Amino acid sequence: MNMKYAIIGYPVEQSLSPAMHEAAFRALGLDAEYQRIPIQMSDLAGGVEFLQQNGYNGWNVTYPLKEQMISFLDTITPIALDIGAVNTVKVLDGSLQGHNTDGEGFIESLSTKGYAFRNKKAVILGAGGAAKAIAVALAQREVGLHILNRTEHKAKRLAKHISALGGKASWGILDSGEWLKSVDLLIQTTPIGMKGEEYFFNLRGINSSSWVIDLIYHPVVTPFLSEAATYGCRTMNGLEMLLYQGALAWRFWLNMEAPISVMRKALLE
Ligand code: NAP
Repeated sequence: MNMKYAIIGYPVEQSLSPAMHEAAFRALGLDAEYQRIPIQMSDLAGGVEFLQQNGYNGWNVTYPLKEQMISFLDTITPIALDIGAVNTVKVLDGSLQGHNTDGEGFIESLSTKGYAFRNKKAVILGAGGAAKAIAVALAQREVGLHILNRTEHKAKRLAKHISALGGKASWGILDSGEWLKSVDLLIQTTPIGMKGEEYFFNLRGINSSSWVIDLIYHPVVTPFLSEAATYGCRTMNGLEMLLYQGALAWRFWLNMEAPISVMRKALLE
């Protein structure tokens, strides 16, 4: 029987998930398809009904539906509950199970490069949905967090949330500072750089042993990443996180390992 998956959200035209998942289905000879289904917040109830009535086996959830999707679920995994958002839904015997693979996808993207997280210090630039998923996953690995955001009270709210979960987190306004000297892992989660624009502060003083990650993958190298490389830091863009969140969604849906190299190739193409 043909299996059906989709990405829902608005907009979804630009999503690379269909290319990645369809390549993986083909590589494993699975009779499955993956569609883009644009759904706005006000249409979510009707959208979920459509997906259930039309026999979808699961779907990914993207902006702006990740938090609202929770109210339609029958069960939710502990990590998705801690993040307060889902990016993956599985239909099992008619019930909807929600999960979030964003934070674990980020962890996996660095773990596969041999990174050891325990007792490291991370600075997260931004305090939106992606930052929250990553912060929860890092806190679970005993990484100390400093969260910096343009709107400071949102950084404070996220830091308090992490503390309530048993992690260590401080906060501040998005700017350079003393933190540059002691950061092990610097994660850029704002849209600054998507149009090739420079960051508004520089990374002078950063330790060359730091890892610097930008969640943006288009352009492939943002000015922010390019500057980090000039200080000798190891750098990574957001494509690996995208890949591993997709691979973990695949494992959640199908209970099998995803063909990582096929999926990476599809993303790069
Ligand atoms: P979001 O929830 O809307 O959060 C956006 C964050 O960026 C907020 O902290 C916001 O600060 C900040 N921001 C926005 N414009 C800014 C500006 N001009 N100057 C300074 N800060 C600014 O978005 P999200 O879902 O977290 O996504 C954030 C980025 O990560 C996007 O570029 C997205 O494409 C990328 N992403 C990549 C992956 C991946 O797999 N690679 C996954 C998820 C997201 P305020 O609170 O002050 O508004």
